[in-house]
Amino acid sequence: MAKIRDMIPAFELLQPTSVEAALNLLDEHRGEAWVLAGGLDSFDWFKDRVKRPSVVVDLGGIAEMHGIREVTNGLEIGAMTTLTEVVRHARIRSEWSVVADAAEHVATPQIRNQGTLGGNVSQDTRCWYYRSGWPCYRAGGNTCYAAAPQAMNREHCIMGRSRCVAVNPSDTAPALIAVDAKMIVESSKGPKVYDAEDFFIGPAIDITRMTVMKERDLLTRIHIPSTWANAEFYYEKVRDRGAWDFQLVSVAAAFQKEGDRITAARIAVNGVAPYPVRVEAAERIVVGTTGDEATAAAAGEAAIEGARALRHNDYKIAMMRNLVRRAVRSVA
Ligand SMILES: Cc1cc2nc3c(=O)[nH]c(=O)nc-3n(C[C@H](O)[C@H](O)[C@H](O)COP(=O)(O)OP(=O)(O)OC[C@H]3O[C@@H](n4cnc5c(N)ncnc54)[C@H](O)[C@@H]3O)c2cc1C
Repeated sequence: MAKIRDMIPAFELLQPTSVEAALNLLDEHRGEAWVLAGGLDSFDWFKDRVKRPSVVVDLGGIAEMHGIREVTNGLEIGAMTTLTEVVRHARIRSEWSVVADAAEHVATPQIRNQGTLGGNVSQDTRCWYYRSGWPCYRAGGNTCYAAAPQAMNREHCIMGRSRCVAVNPSDTAPALIAVDAKMIVESSKGPKVYDAEDFFIGPAIDITRMTVMKERDLLTRIHIPSTWANAEFYYEKVRDRGAWDFQLVSVAAAFQKEGDRITAARIAVNGVAPYPVRVEAAERIVVGTTGDEATAAAAGEAAIEGARALRHNDYKIAMMRNLVRRAVRSVA
């Protein structure tokens, strides 16, 4: 399908300076407004003319959405905090290093300087059929081009499919699940708090969205609770190129220990489903063990239960199994 990459179609740019004003604007322009954070996902859509909002609400001037604050029981990261700020924050690096690690794996320094944590977890899928403007299920059509017999689907999902087989592209998403982060979503009806693992949704819930957020919602901040501070963490992202690239499969894990025994574990994998997958079956296997080789192997097998490859991505099953295995083995 031909794409025009010259100019972004005109839109009205609105620049509120408070969350309240932003929510009022989203209500006022219901059905036509687009939320803009760092613009790295947004401007791709606009330049390709696949999405053509008539109104853009830029969150850049909302001071209360920027920065990292100490709060009772942890840290609160404003959704407009850049990925670079997350990477460099001393307490995140020392106490929740998996979050800094994951943020540091996003794209390039330039993209991390501009891209926000809120935008990173809210970004849309990178399925190229969908992003090229093909009328697939996710775009309101009645087929999934990536699941067709002749499709190129090496990067697509091995679980969680429901008509759509696209994956969630966010590097920070599994790390936020591993530290049991809470996502604070506000609308004119008031705030709601979601566990990170419930914030991301699959096509069986709503094929047009990647998160619980609906049209007039704003993710305002992310709370990182102290509960998992200073746990043992593991993060690994496998991608085609070392320089920068989206994940093929990634794993983020947190382990609490007493002596050499694991007392609690949280393991999340991304790149395998339309949402980051928390692998609770694997977590249950590792609790009470030392993370020895046999346990790690069993956890890897448990993680891939129910996985089903498309034509070109059976390698992802082995990759998911091995990443979970390596995460568990890191403890021993
Ligand atoms: C070349 C390139 C390479 C990339 N590589 C990677 C990679 O390796 N790993 C990775 O994880 N990402 C990667 N990305 C994606 C990039 O990190 C994200 O596009 C970026 O983090 C999005 O953040 P942003 O602040 O630019 O948001 P925007 O692009 O402005 O917004 C993204 C989406 O989220 C919505 N949104 C943003 N903030 C909020 C909010 N607070 N509340 C509600 N909705 C909101 C917007 O409406 C939009 O739909 C890459 C992007 C590019 C262009």
